[in-house]
Amino acid sequence: MSDDEHQSEGEGAPMEIPEPVVVKYCPVCTMPYEYCEFSNTKKQCYTRLKEDDPDLFAELLGDLNLDEVQDKKKPAQVKFTEDTKKSAIVVTRIQRTKKKFASNIAGLKAFGIDLKKASKAISGRFAASSSVVGDDEVQVTGDVTVDIVDFLTSKFDGIKKEDIKIVFKNKKPKADTS
Ligand SMILES: [Zn+2]
Repeated sequence: MSDDEHQSEGEGAPMEIPEPVVVKYCPVCTMPYEYCEFSNTKKQCYTRLKEDDPDLFAELLGDLNLDEVQDKKKPAQVKFTEDTKKSAIVVTRIQRTKKKFASNIAGLKAFGIDLKKASKAISGRFAASSSVVGDDEVQVTGDVTVDIVDFLTSKFDGIKKEDIKIVFKNKKPKADTS
């Protein structure tokens, strides 16, 4: 048994490390909460802050009454909510392996399209197997992104080019491939 110097006291009296300043960003206006007062969404910002971090709210704003906060301008800037509401068809190309892709088409429902019919039409057009998955998605084997816009816009009335968004989800290259 050796009771050397197991307890190495004095070696490192814990130094006082100043706490790093953590800047919290406001998810509403994307600026640090300190700057929310300059944003056009002040009221939303503060409402969010109050829910998320009441302490910080108190620190920055004391007992501010949210009902008294007015956003600077109203209509023009509220675009954001409108945009998110606007329905869009999102075509996602998913890379499965190096050469294999699948494509996911979501959002057709909002255009009044029967998903089963769409799936059939797509599989016919692209000679791929296609199926309805979930509530509002058609999944196709292969990469259909090249022609899907033309196909959808010509096949279905009411779909415009601008309604379709294409997203590429590529497989992340492995670190150890060389
Ligand atoms: Zn904010």
